[in-house]
Amino acid sequence: MTTPPTLGPADLARSVLARLGVDAARLDGGSMATFTPVTGAQIAALTSDTPEAVAAAVERAHAAFRIWRDVPAPRRGELVRLFGEELRAAKADLGRLVSIEAGKSPSEGAGEVQEMIDICDFAVGLSRQLYGLTIATERPGHRMMETWHPLGVVGVISAFNFPVAVWSWNTALALVCGDSVVWKPSEKTPLTALACEAILAKAVARFGGAPEGLSSVVIGGADVGEALVDNPKVALVSATGSTRMGRVVGPKVAARFGRTILELGGNNAGIVCPSADLDMALRAVAFGAMGTAGQRCTTMRRLFVHDDVYDALVPRLVRAYASVTVGNPLESQALVGPLIDARAFEAMQAALAAAKAAGGTVHGGERADIEGPGAYYVRPALVEMPEQTGPVLEETFAPILYVMRYTDFDAVLEAHNAVGAGLSSSIFTLDLREMETFLSARGSDCGIANVNIGTSGAEIGGAFGGEKETGGGRESGSDAWKGYMRRATNTVNYSRNLPLAQGVVFDID
Ligand code: NAD
Repeated sequence: MTTPPTLGPADLARSVLARLGVDAARLDGGSMATFTPVTGAQIAALTSDTPEAVAAAVERAHAAFRIWRDVPAPRRGELVRLFGEELRAAKADLGRLVSIEAGKSPSEGAGEVQEMIDICDFAVGLSRQLYGLTIATERPGHRMMETWHPLGVVGVISAFNFPVAVWSWNTALALVCGDSVVWKPSEKTPLTALACEAILAKAVARFGGAPEGLSSVVIGGADVGEALVDNPKVALVSATGSTRMGRVVGPKVAARFGRTILELGGNNAGIVCPSADLDMALRAVAFGAMGTAGQRCTTMRRLFVHDDVYDALVPRLVRAYASVTVGNPLESQALVGPLIDARAFEAMQAALAAAKAAGGTVHGGERADIEGPGAYYVRPALVEMPEQTGPVLEETFAPILYVMRYTDFDAVLEAHNAVGAGLSSSIFTLDLREMETFLSARGSDCGIANVNIGTSGAEIGGAFGGEKETGGGRESGSDAWKGYMRRATNTVNYSRNLPLAQGVVFDID
């Protein structure tokens, strides 16, 4: 049992922020109120940054970039190594703040900070591995190679549901790649951003000599995000959030020939085949669909179950849904915490009503009376659907799992891919042919395709992101770092002749 805290979540947040080094004067007097979804209580009233302040932050970041790009990459990695150390020291506090501000369970809050530590470790190694290729040239006495250079200012726009990890994925890579960062966190979770800024400042102080303005935070809503998006000195906009947001941000950055990494909505599915280990599938689906109260971009939202195993699995899942604990994540061991706000609750109820109207049988989904009228706790909903239609085709950012029967494997693959989003997917099977087909060119069309694990809970070592309406961006591991650098192809002639490529002749006297 965790000991109940003596302070309410708002006071607890303030004491954690003070401990992490955030100036209390920043927390009051502004018009941007911030709340904890745990009780609905207001924590702070921040001052939004003006467009002029955003422009000034970008100017400072640009000046910092011009210095930072000349610092050797392994030395840049040293700053990220120190940041990882500071994060280790701050893990309990920052994890708790994530739980207060985003409503995550303590283990999920701490897990998010662990991801930050992991990406720092990854980026430190990467700082000595920003390799380019040497390429065979068709001309004698020539050498052709690829070099990778720092890109510029990276504008990070993040969503409420991973309030700190997504920024760290971007920032740890950007810093070792020689870029500077300006971060616009979600208006629903700006306090964790101020905490991260303070933690990074400790690493910067220990590092000594990092340029001023290398990494900064700007506070505000979509308008502040747009000020970053529209600024031509922001070379890369890495934006995480809804597909709706990406539809605005993507074309705007493209119109000024800027670069984007778009990490947008998901409508992730699992397929349970006749040979599946049903105990394993049950646990994976339960965590994937109900964990974080269905507020992960990789949350499982659709489940296709083969007719042969439907009656062995789905009633067990319905029982798991009925018995899962929902409650205050700070004071209980509950597996499911609150929705972020009233709008999320309303969107969930609207989706359930639409599913019912389309012939669905709804289990759960009702509001749970926990922590009073300002907090929005719900029982997760499992909806048995006759077919994939209506709300099943869209992401509703709440714990709703639509379950459908299938009989034909090729048809279920088609149905799996017949939605706009393309983030994460999984298949539960012990059949090699089904598994390999799912992972093949005609299988899942998502950026993440898993076998015998759920859709959520990615590790930082792989490239993270999705296709289609998920935006096509990749962050975190593998070679995602290339998105934060510019590539140059260099040809060097060390011969005494000037042969032209493709055998072209152009002789002048
Ligand atoms: P949201 O789209 O409402 O907001 C995300 C961020 O974008 C916020 O910081 C917001 O202020 C900013 N924003 C909104 N409109 C903007 C505009 N026109 N210009 C610039 N900035 C703008 O999303 P949310 O409710 O905070 O988060 C939930 C959504 O995020 C879900 O759709 C979820 O799937 C998605 N998400 C995706 C990933 C991923 O990696 N693919 C990760 C986490 C969340």
